[in-house]
Amino acid sequence: MNHLTKEKEMEKVEFKIPYTKFGIIFADKDGDNLVITGVSKDYSKKNIWDLVYKGYNLWKYQNDFAIYQQDKKFIGLGVDRKDNLVEVNFSKRPNRHVIKAEKPEGAYWSTHDIATYNEHHILLKAHKVIKRTQEEARIRAEKLLRKHAHENRAVCGACERYIERWDEGNRNGVIYDHGFKQVGFRAGTCIGARYQPWEKSPEGKIVYIKQLQSQKDHLLNNKPDEKLLAKLLDKVEKFVAFKRQLEELKKEHKEAYEEDVRYFDRNQNRFIAWLHFNKDIKITALSPVYYLDTLHVWDKTTVNQLFTVWQRMIDTLTDIINKQQTKVDNWEEQLTAKEKVAQS
Ligand SMILES: [Zn+2]
Repeated sequence: MNHLTKEKEMEKVEFKIPYTKFGIIFADKDGDNLVITGVSKDYSKKNIWDLVYKGYNLWKYQNDFAIYQQDKKFIGLGVDRKDNLVEVNFSKRPNRHVIKAEKPEGAYWSTHDIATYNEHHILLKAHKVIKRTQEEARIRAEKLLRKHAHENRAVCGACERYIERWDEGNRNGVIYDHGFKQVGFRAGTCIGARYQPWEKSPEGKIVYIKQLQSQKDHLLNNKPDEKLLAKLLDKVEKFVAFKRQLEELKKEHKEAYEEDVRYFDRNQNRFIAWLHFNKDIKITALSPVYYLDTLHVWDKTTVNQLFTVWQRMIDTLTDIINKQQTKVDNWEEQLTAKEKVAQS
């Protein structure tokens, strides 16, 4: 067996040793040989600690930081309050007092629930645990596959969730209408609806990329400038005036309104409707002003702040477009859950 095929056989595994503080263990498994590659006490697996850092060995770790040891020297490595990775040289063997006193300024580091890395202990139990973890994962995946098959669900090319297929009439198994929400973007019907699922065609993803691209083009053609800022500030002024008017009307009609409407039913819309029907006063509700659904605009907002948000949005879009395009470039036809179950 040559080196290349051996590398192919290497399997990445993730597991937890029950009733211990170790958290999630990451390892490369090659037959019976197990090499631990990292550990994490972070539920979202954002901070995964290597076993060796700058020649120091992992000693203890927590969610936000890890301590590495080399003879009598100790290094702390972890995130500060701004989520930057920072390094600390401890003056002596760090007990909880030393950690508290010498942690980076503004870091949350605490010794609560800290784990001591123990390779021997982990390896002793690992194989049994991995076997059980994989068996559980297999059963979960099998159950989910049968559920998706039974409900005739397939992957939406745009949002990549399992959505029902539309088999009636001449719909030919396209994806049903469903909602879509992505951070920073407007919610609505997913553009992948009414296209073939991802297993059968990349068409849903291709229209999704087109949609993202047109959003990006629109942004590129609307770079924030003084003119845009003036427009937004004008809206802010109108919103402030609306709020002021509402407050004045509330004061003026407080008694009558509170007599008519129960406490739990009182809110802005209700008050405006009440004004209309009872006092014949018509005012239109205005909303606070946001730029690109992200930046709350107020009278001190600058063009520079708009620009930063604009740039970040373009970067995000570019990143999503590239990732989606890579998937389209590597697309291959697959079986749907229903087809897989029918075959087995
Ligand atoms: Zn979708």
